Amino acid sequence: MEYTKEKKVGEGTYAVVYLGSQHSTGRKIAVKEIKTSEFKDGLDMSAIREVKYLQEMQHPNVIELIDIFMAYDNLNLVLEFLPTDLEVVIKDKSILFTPADIKAWMLMTLRGVYHCHRNFILHRDLKPNNLLFSPNGQIKVADFGLARAIPAPHEILTSNVVTRWYRAPELLFGAKHYTSAIDIWSVGVIFAELMLRIPYLPGQNDVDQMEVTFRALGTPTDRDWPEVSSFMTYNKLQIYPPPSRDELRKRFIAASEYALDFMCGMLKMNPQKRWTAVQCLESDYFKELPPPSDPSTIKIRS
Ligand code: ADP
Ligand code: MG
Repeated sequence: MEYTKEKKVGEGTYAVVYLGSQHSTGRKIAVKEIKTSEFKDGLDMSAIREVKYLQEMQHPNVIELIDIFMAYDNLNLVLEFLPTDLEVVIKDKSILFTPADIKAWMLMTLRGVYHCHRNFILHRDLKPNNLLFSPNGQIKVADFGLARAIPAPHEILTSNVVTRWYRAPELLFGAKHYTSAIDIWSVGVIFAELMLRIPYLPGQNDVDQMEVTFRALGTPTDRDWPEVSSFMTYNKLQIYPPPSRDELRKRFIAASEYALDFMCGMLKMNPQKRWTAVQCLESDYFKELPPPSDPSTIKIRS
């Protein structure tokens, strides 16, 4: 066997992840063993997707798939080893980070997301726990288990994607058609969470998620999102006004005006008006001072 599995480092919904190494080089790697036991007639679709999309993408801000192998009927993905993730960093209050660090992380995340979208791939599960750090501080978009090709306009999709707190309003409404704008919404929520250092829209269930989202950001109306009121669940909603600029300034006390514009661009209710990855990357937020930190100098270990 070319790879060893040494210790378990993580467990997700459909995989167990081990730390290991490559015999020939001694290189540290991670092995993601996909649980296929329940799928006797073949591999789970999510495993196939993850392999397919990772093979198509090579980018400094997307996790590298080094190899794949089968063992005891299980599919194993050999990935570059990434020692920690953004969720751990946000939760560990002994780690201090600055607005310049946040800017560097947003830049790397958006470059990774843009690379996916440019290759016609939707990630569909962006959240701090799926943004991993390399030893030199690069952010890598990881966990492509829910990814899919950007759909043709009339293709019908499941809206049951993305972890609840990071789910865009069109998904909360159960839209059967959606675009790469769902990933940008998730990035916007992650940006807010980095500034607040607590989850921004922590809904307790799917109904509460709408409540929490619209209370914070205003209930969408047909005026800024034509036909939003034709979604089935719309009439049950409480109508909240959008927050004033001053309310946003008070909530995001350390954010500059450009940082707020950047956040609001990603958190637009109407997916057609939401900023694209390119618009985000070209935002004045990245041009104003302070410049993003050099990733290799950010201390993320307490
Ligand atoms: P799932 O689809 O089951 O959520 P993930 O790919 O997100 O699987 O992996 C589950 C967990 O395993 C991650 O949250 C992380 O803690 C750990 N992990 C995943 N990939 C790596 C890696 N390349 N290096 C180190 N740890 C990893
Ligand atoms: Mg995961």
